[in-house]
Amino acid sequence: MRIVLVGPPGAGKGTQAAFLAQNLSIPHISTGDLFRANISKQTELGKLAKSYMDKGELVPDEVTIAMAKDRMEQPDAVNGFLLDGFPRNVSQAEALDEMLQHEDMKLDGVLDLEVPETEVVKRIAGRRICRNDSAHVFHVSYKAPKQEGVCDVCGGELYQRDDDSEETVRKRLEVYHTQTEPIIDYYKAQGLVVTISALGKVEEVTGRAMEALKREDDAA
Ligand code: ADP
Repeated sequence: MRIVLVGPPGAGKGTQAAFLAQNLSIPHISTGDLFRANISKQTELGKLAKSYMDKGELVPDEVTIAMAKDRMEQPDAVNGFLLDGFPRNVSQAEALDEMLQHEDMKLDGVLDLEVPETEVVKRIAGRRICRNDSAHVFHVSYKAPKQEGVCDVCGGELYQRDDDSEETVRKRLEVYHTQTEPIIDYYKAQGLVVTISALGKVEEVTGRAMEALKREDDAA
């Protein structure tokens, strides 16, 4: 299956993507994680990406598309993938379509995670992520780790992302509305979008997502 996850920052895309990818046995490809890996390795791409990410802006299409394409061409992605954070504007969506058409492939569905803006801000402000694995996500009040600052899963150090500050979050939300939301209409025109509520427990949202994707798959 080839799936795109969309939703505002803080919708829980990363958390859901990790569960869904495991359930569907496909790799979870997150452009945000790929950029963060480059930042911690201090690559040229990482340095460039950081200058945009810290402001809450999008990293330029040219480098983002090349990086995403490279990841999608890895052997583990031949039978499908779950894209998280890509595409993030219409020109990236067009580039993805071209890429897929070239390989005679198509998307199976676009899962749109819906969550009210007030909730998004609360989620992001309390979010803490493990340095060892970005799929290990906690929240100071909604999902507190047993020991403050320490990952329950692997004992790694928990930290707050540089771009999770209130000011940057506001900018990310604005960028989401102006640049990313239009891809929902783009994909609606292709009949690919399923919208689910991202409110409630993590497992409940995963359950809703699996149901929705199953319906898409049956309809295909
Ligand atoms: P979130 O979805 O919570 O905002 P991500 O980890 O997906 O977080 O993205 C963090 C930042 O990485 C974005 O604000 C942006 O600067 C950059 N980024 C991630 N994916 C893309 C993309 N497809 N195009 C451009 N920039 C991106």
